Amino acid sequence: MLVRPCPICRKPVSWELNPCRPFCSERCKVMDLGAWATESYRLPEKPDEENGEGWTEPAEGDS
Ligand SMILES: [Zn+2]
Repeated sequence: MLVRPCPICRKPVSWELNPCRPFCSERCKVMDLGAWATESYRLPEKPDEENGEGWTEPAEGDS
């Protein structure tokens, strides 16, 4: 049986029987998503403000 450590709590996880893999549980899965979201949304909104005038986003009319 394949066993991997949970990326969050390092507990060995039974890979095949675990719907939350690579996490050991739904809790660790949510924790990872929460950490990812918190860090990602902290990126500056306008990284290339001085160079950003050359392209225009189709604001909300894509669909
Ligand atoms: Zn875990």
